Amino acid sequence: MLSLSELKSLLATPQKIVITTHHKPDGDAMGSSLGLYAYLIQKGHHVKVITPTDYPYFLHWLPNNSDVIIYTEQKEQSELHVAEASLIFCLDFNTLSRINELGEVIRGSEAYKIMIDHHLEPEDFDDYRCWNINACAAAQLVYEFIVHELEDGAFMSKDIATCLYTGIMTDSGSFRFPSATSEVYRIGADLIDAGAEHWRIHQLVYDNATENRLRFLGHCLTNKLEILREFNTAIITVTAEELKKYNIVTGDTEGIVNYALSVNGIRLAAFIIERTDRVKLSLRSTGDFPANEICKKYFNGGGHRNAAGGASDESLTDTVEKFKSILTEYKTQLLQ
Ligand code: 5GP
Ligand code: MN
Repeated sequence: MLSLSELKSLLATPQKIVITTHHKPDGDAMGSSLGLYAYLIQKGHHVKVITPTDYPYFLHWLPNNSDVIIYTEQKEQSELHVAEASLIFCLDFNTLSRINELGEVIRGSEAYKIMIDHHLEPEDFDDYRCWNINACAAAQLVYEFIVHELEDGAFMSKDIATCLYTGIMTDSGSFRFPSATSEVYRIGADLIDAGAEHWRIHQLVYDNATENRLRFLGHCLTNKLEILREFNTAIITVTAEELKKYNIVTGDTEGIVNYALSVNGIRLAAFIIERTDRVKLSLRSTGDFPANEICKKYFNGGGHRNAAGGASDESLTDTVEKFKSILTEYKTQLLQ
């Protein structure tokens, strides 16, 4: 274990630091990682951001994106950085299985591990923890870590603010989920004062689609959306063949599940996609319906109550059948 004062005194001299985040990083994963990165390099540390996999093209504009190392593409280099690090920051995840093979590399490292996360049920692998499931984003916790714990708000630069704003915006549904409290709005305002251009960030993330992506969305909505009124549930299923036909790349499928949830009366939405190695499920729900419980219990996954994910080794058809059969168990809650 590491106390805050021990961590502060470590950070008072230049350290070799690794920042990592979850598989297929999203806006919060990259925003919180590059936000912390911008802060730490400004303080004179030697820092590497290592992601377990690639991530969406609409996040490639983030400040210092070109410094990111993708583990699957540079394994040797990544492992060397982990071996040399004295501190490893783990952002937006709390079990080492969420970062695939990189998880065991990090478990084996003797560096102090700092978890900054907002997911349920953290695994006990860390030495210092900023963990709050009520935080709307890991980026919110990075803000609080820098401003309140390290008392270094004076160092809030435009780059840090831009990255943290991106994380908060993407994980809070553009400041509209219940997790976007008045305090989150205050943090947002502070980040705008520090130079985050909120209108530009929104445009770069959400109005940056390729033509393919938009046509694929049209296909999903016209041909693939299935509404099960008896369960207030909507499902969109996508085959590997369709992904190929539309030339789908990382990031193109993100957010499509929200369209299914936007149908009136729908309490649970599922986006079920046939990836090369397995079938992946993305669930969204409204109110107190526990999407994460379904993912944890039946699909080896987890997440938040209203946004969760999991995977299946069965075929796409069998996974969809399994998902539909589970709905009976939740019928009363779905119809409330
Ligand atoms: P998404 O549907 O956007 O992939 O993920 C939604 C939420 O569920 C995110 O908070 C993410 O961290 C979590 N999640 C997605 N897939 C998995 C998974 O396979 N395992 C766990 N534990 N959480 C997941
Ligand atoms: Mn997050």
